[in-house]
Amino acid sequence: MGIKDKIKEMAVDQAIDQMCALAESGTDEDLIKIVEIAARITNNPLWSSAVEGFHHRLEINHPQMHMSRKFMRELDPHVRRTIMRNLIANEALLGYQTRYKVKEELGFYPPSHLVISPTMACNLSCFGCYASSYRAKGLDYEQVKDILAQAKDLGMYLVIISGGEPLYWPHFIRMCEEHPDMTFQFYTNATLIDRAMAKKLVELGNVIPAISVEGFEQETDERRGKGTYKKLTDAMAYLKELGGLFAFSCTAHHYNLDIVASDEFMDDLQERGVFYGWYFHYMPLGKGATTDLMLTPEQRGWLRKRIRQLRGTKGVFIADFWNDGDYVDGCIAGGKHYFHINSKGDIEPCVFCHFATHNIKDTTLKEALGSPLFKAIRKRQPYKLDRRQPCMLIDANEQLREVLEEAGDEVYWTHEGADSIVTEFAPFLEDLSERFAQWLAEHNDDPDVMEKNMEREYGHDPHREEQIKRIYGSVTEALSDEEKKEIYAG
Ligand code: SF4
Repeated sequence: MGIKDKIKEMAVDQAIDQMCALAESGTDEDLIKIVEIAARITNNPLWSSAVEGFHHRLEINHPQMHMSRKFMRELDPHVRRTIMRNLIANEALLGYQTRYKVKEELGFYPPSHLVISPTMACNLSCFGCYASSYRAKGLDYEQVKDILAQAKDLGMYLVIISGGEPLYWPHFIRMCEEHPDMTFQFYTNATLIDRAMAKKLVELGNVIPAISVEGFEQETDERRGKGTYKKLTDAMAYLKELGGLFAFSCTAHHYNLDIVASDEFMDDLQERGVFYGWYFHYMPLGKGATTDLMLTPEQRGWLRKRIRQLRGTKGVFIADFWNDGDYVDGCIAGGKHYFHINSKGDIEPCVFCHFATHNIKDTTLKEALGSPLFKAIRKRQPYKLDRRQPCMLIDANEQLREVLEEAGDEVYWTHEGADSIVTEFAPFLEDLSERFAQWLAEHNDDPDVMEKNMEREYGHDPHREEQIKRIYGSVTEALSDEEKKEIYAG
């Protein structure tokens, strides 16, 4: 490291110290200062836009200020410092700069994060989970270590660990310990998080458990097994008491929607100390897959509106992996923003795309990201003009088939039965996609569906106006100047 870099690193360290000191005071004014410092040191447009968003949320005392205040006032100081350092200094500053340098070399901007499923083994056997479709002993520690070293060279400091149950993989804690500069969010059933494990996770500081929950006790135990809900809520209680940062994840399907999108469910999670959460829609993948559990177009549309209501009224930040496509310009797979390495080492375009051309055991991340398969995906993104239908699996199945054809004979399915997404289920999915497009067209002028608040509350994305024009272009012609101004101005 040269002298210039050393000085820069010291300056960043000082800034992180300053932010931590401000966090100790816990006032709203200091919260703003923290975000302003982050924007200054990262010089990253996303952080700069976040400053605007924070000012606005503070001004209107937005319910989600609760989450920011909790971050300052209730987190264990070591966790807070580690997360701030890793996400601001490493991910948003160092990672961002590295990714730009890599772009010059590779000709494309590398993703900001990756998902690794080091094992598909799990202590539970939940209905509808695709984990048991994979038969593999899992990745060994040296393989994962090598993946993480390559990821850092490409500018990735945020790693999502999925599975299987990550805590069932014997090297999980060691991996987090030996990579203190990276943040690991891991999807977990939480049944292995007793008080001692919760303490360990807080001591590590660089881990964020995203606890899977299916509703309340009845719904969760029905899918995951008796006693699961009690164990996961106990885990939440330990983490809350010890100052851990944790999230939830939830699969919305045809039969649980009214429960998992209810006020009671969200209020309960907020009370239990959850910071943020992910909604996944049930996908027909793996053993026992069925389209019966999928959301109907009406349900998906309803959830889209509902998520926005919840986001605007609760103190937990939530994201919907499929219905928030318009915030991230559509699908993020194929290395656009992320990709997945499964327990066999296959490098899949995303967690739900169960096909590959490369395996990490005999290739590099750079080669896989530049592969014909990943390029065929990226060049088609977004598959549809309307980013509210972002997914090549369920919204643009015909484009998925084109991708597979273009990528050629090298493509293989990563588990038995995975091809049903383009065979058995394809006609159903195409029809579903058309029906959802119809639903969107019929509800385009619904003020709850039209996005006006996200940017105002979470910051200005420089490309946002263009995106809004692309998404709502035809609709906005029917709007008054006043309404257009409101939408375009955020
Ligand atoms: S292919 Fe579908 S599931 Fe995968 S990242 Fe894209 S939108 Fe998400």
